[in-house]
Amino acid sequence: MHYLITGGSGFIGSHLSDKLLADGHRVTVLDNLSTGKIENVRHLEGNDRFKLVVGTILNETLVDKLAERCDAIFHLAAAVGVELIVNHPLESLTTNIKGSEIVLEMAYRYHKKVLITSTSEIYGKNTQGPLTEDQDRILGSPLKSRWSYSTAKAVDEILAYVYWKEKKVPTTIVRLFNTVGPRQSGMYGMVVPRFVRQAVEDKDITVYGSGTQSRCFLHVKDVVSTLPKLIENLGSYGQVFNIGSQEEVTIEDLARKVIEITKSKSKIVKIPYEKAYEEGFEDMERRMPDTTKIRNLIGFKPTADLKDIIEDVVKYTRENK
Ligand code: UDP
Repeated sequence: MHYLITGGSGFIGSHLSDKLLADGHRVTVLDNLSTGKIENVRHLEGNDRFKLVVGTILNETLVDKLAERCDAIFHLAAAVGVELIVNHPLESLTTNIKGSEIVLEMAYRYHKKVLITSTSEIYGKNTQGPLTEDQDRILGSPLKSRWSYSTAKAVDEILAYVYWKEKKVPTTIVRLFNTVGPRQSGMYGMVVPRFVRQAVEDKDITVYGSGTQSRCFLHVKDVVSTLPKLIENLGSYGQVFNIGSQEEVTIEDLARKVIEITKSKSKIVKIPYEKAYEEGFEDMERRMPDTTKIRNLIGFKPTADLKDIIEDVVKYTRENK
């Protein structure tokens, strides 16, 4: 198969490129290298089944050409990371809505399968856990960046769904919960690479808010082994699936685990949300996926636990100081 991966030089996209190439497929990556990095795919240069195209998903002519040539599309290009979204709300909105519309339209034009990556941010402030795919969304004002991001991703989901419903484009939607692993940058807010870097450098570990908020972290390798199974499964079209871990940890305990594994001299410091992000910032107290639906369809089961994840990120961080 020949796959087009938008955002294929990013954290998740580059691991997906590795996985598909390892399985013998051809991969074309379209990435504007905004948050994606050339270093993430440099090791693939010279592989004659791999091609990197530097460009934006907003360039319709380019997406048209690439969509025509591939067999199926993984659409990962997006503005991601709470901090990036808070700091660049307009750009985030345009990339996420217009970009997805272009990708879906081209998938329609050339009758290609397309997998759209959405996010657990969809659920907003719904902290009931574990969250099933049909749970209510609970959002604050659309003028707050976090909720406008959630809304933009919801528009992507709606677009993907109606392209399936009305135009019979085989679309699959995945909601990724906190995904972590090597190559993830801490520059846009992601907590694990941040804590690990702080610990490796013996700097203060910055826990935002009380530290009692919790998350479930899934290793990126468990995400990228799942996406190809979904896109090739007829039962996934017109459907949405949570992908995530159910191993819950509070952010303060995460900081402690990182210190323990790195044997760091770092201390934990608490920083109020309004200092870390912006005035009026709202965090989720808890976020855990119900993964029954994807388990039933393709037998999804994480292979790495939190300790494995932290150890992998520590190794990567030490090697890429
Ligand atoms: N967080 C933190 N310190 C940091 C970065 C993030 O305490 O340096 C917290 C953040 O406020 C949130 C959790 O860690 O409660 C997860 O943040 P992340 O941005 O990784 O993911 P998301 O909030 O999207 O789940």
